[in-house]
Amino acid sequence: MRIDLHTHSRVSDGTQPPDEVIRLAAAQGLDVVALTDHDTTDGWAEATRAAAETGITLVRGLEISTKHNGQGVHLLGYLPDPTYPPLVEGLQKVLDGRNSRIPAILERLNELGIAIRVDDVRQVAGDAAAAGRPHVADALVDRGVVRDREQAFDELLSPGRPAYVHRYAAPLVEMIRIVGEAGGVAVLAHPWGRHAPAGMSPEDIAGLAELGLVGLEVDHQDHDAASRRDLAAIADDLGLVRTGSSDYHGAGKKNHELGCNTTEPEQFERLIALASDAAARSGRRTPELVVP
Ligand code: AMP
Ligand code: ZN
Ligand code: FE
Ligand code: FE
Repeated sequence: MRIDLHTHSRVSDGTQPPDEVIRLAAAQGLDVVALTDHDTTDGWAEATRAAAETGITLVRGLEISTKHNGQGVHLLGYLPDPTYPPLVEGLQKVLDGRNSRIPAILERLNELGIAIRVDDVRQVAGDAAAAGRPHVADALVDRGVVRDREQAFDELLSPGRPAYVHRYAAPLVEMIRIVGEAGGVAVLAHPWGRHAPAGMSPEDIAGLAELGLVGLEVDHQDHDAASRRDLAAIADDLGLVRTGSSDYHGAGKKNHELGCNTTEPEQFERLIALASDAAARSGRRTPELVVP
């Protein structure tokens, strides 16, 4: 069994449509894949059709932009009712923040003598519901300003770089609660990833577990062997599910190929059992696993 619980499509900052991501996962021999676009569930319907056609198991999910103690934290939510009003409203605020940030970034770039218009970004972003810095990066690549997304982030778009602009993110604790109320389960994405330099302490994680967090993404490309070992120990200690995933972005992120990290079947079974409990408790109409 090969299980990959974190992938992105063009609906956010991946480079392929949802159906292509699912078909590729099936063609590469994965048994289970989760689509987890940033801050939106807009890719679910297309992914569901592709999964039903290819015979791969699909977990419908998303990766929510949150903040905790002043730091950005990505929260994976699996199988929540996407119509639960507090979830819809929470995501809308994040998407509004994304949309208002793009013109602000372009203003900074203009001050640096780099002329990119909102339309240029819209064009590369296509029909993405969650547009972001990766799309600005793509527009910069198109203009020949930088080689690739990586260079755009390193030189211009990352915190501390001249075109960085802050955006709104939802409070982490509130989002963990909302995902649970929506009948889903919440897993911390890459808790010690390179975008959280101060990391999250074992005490922080224990506190979040008390508040309903059910899992930690342990095996992720941002984590070295020592981090994976320590995070696995923390998860086991707290009774949290351990996941492993690629964080696939198509051509948008190097070294994140589908299935490069995977989740153990026993851990996946636990995650799905917890999702069933949450769904029953919530009384909401939650999505089922799409199974062959
Ligand atoms: P945003 O969501 O607009 O704040 O942009 C953050 C997203 O950009 C992250 O979720 C990553 O998927 C992507 N990202 C961050 N750093 C890099 C990088 N150095 N190269 C490519 N993509 C990146
Ligand atoms: Zn991304
Ligand atoms: Fe992330
Ligand atoms: Fe991601």
